[in-house]
Amino acid sequence: MTQLLSVKCRLIVSKELRTEIDATLQGFADACNQILKIGQGFKQWNTTKLHHLAYKTVRASTGLGSNHVCMAIRRVVGNVKAVKQIHKFRPTSISLNERTFRYWEETQEVGITLTKRHRFKLAIGGYQIALLRGQKITSATLNKTRQGDYYINFVVEIDTPPTGKTPKVIGVDLGRRDIATTSTNKSWSGEQIQTVRDRFSRVRAGVQSKRTRNSRRLLRRLSGREQRYQKWLNHNISKELVQVAKQSGAALVFEDLTNIRQSLNEKPRNKTERRRTNNWAFHQLRIFVQYKAAIAGVSVVFVPPGYTSQTCNRCGHIHPIKGKSYRSVKKFKCGYCGFEHDADVNAAMNIAALGLSFVSQPERPGMNCQLEGQIPLLTIFQI
Ligand SMILES: [Zn+2]
Repeated sequence: MTQLLSVKCRLIVSKELRTEIDATLQGFADACNQILKIGQGFKQWNTTKLHHLAYKTVRASTGLGSNHVCMAIRRVVGNVKAVKQIHKFRPTSISLNERTFRYWEETQEVGITLTKRHRFKLAIGGYQIALLRGQKITSATLNKTRQGDYYINFVVEIDTPPTGKTPKVIGVDLGRRDIATTSTNKSWSGEQIQTVRDRFSRVRAGVQSKRTRNSRRLLRRLSGREQRYQKWLNHNISKELVQVAKQSGAALVFEDLTNIRQSLNEKPRNKTERRRTNNWAFHQLRIFVQYKAAIAGVSVVFVPPGYTSQTCNRCGHIHPIKGKSYRSVKKFKCGYCGFEHDADVNAAMNIAALGLSFVSQPERPGMNCQLEGQIPLLTIFQI
């Protein structure tokens, strides 16, 4: 089993080269927009056929190199197939292939073809170096952030060891009463972070009433500190989760909430689910777990969300009346079989059961769970 990861590395770029990168970014966006128009005009989204229709015109009008134009065609076709409705490409990213970039492990440099080939130093840390070590990287994107920084995202494929005959799984329930609760009855309390948040919000309320320039600066600093604290906490929780899984040779199972927002056929969601999906802190925790797991060789499985907090783990019953649930804040008490348990652990056990049914029968048709080989690309945050 392999997992695709996108490893994000900052480029150190001199002032002179910024102009050249920006020009290439603009050229690539222009090319994509032209290709999109041509494709729409001919209703043609086959890469080879679209290539014949667009290549010459686009190359002549943008002055881009041949490889960049080819990648622009691929980008447009890929995006159209994934998103259906695209309005405009912005000059923020270029797709690169083996001919337009090269990574040097010895010097932590990357060569990128703009109008000509340039070398850039990478500003990267231990995690990224570990993930890139020994990799034959064949695809990457060059990105510009809103702040004006440049990053290269390398796509790497990481081997995850195959699960044995009797796979073990640990279900993880995120963000209800506690930040994380496992099916093995371990939890990380949200109390501490809530206390910190409350303190910050009290200070913020005090500062906001003053409305001076100094107070605005203080507000920015507060939110930075709050985020740094959350990040530190997420690093610790993810580290422990991965350690526990590695020690017991188990896969970690999460509910896949990340794609709900972007999902094409939007499903109705309740308030709790909405809060959890939109909360960047849980998103960050899942990402931290994924790359730590990838390094440690621990499998991560995502199962479709739904009813995990309301279903009885012993008998599978859900409260028959709509809007009612067998769970109270802390306790789950099944009205059918009488099973009583900590509500979060019950949810985590249901997540584990879903994960197990998938891990043990990965070929079973009709399962719409996603195993790690198919999860969307992740971004590795810089530490
Ligand atoms: Zn029951």
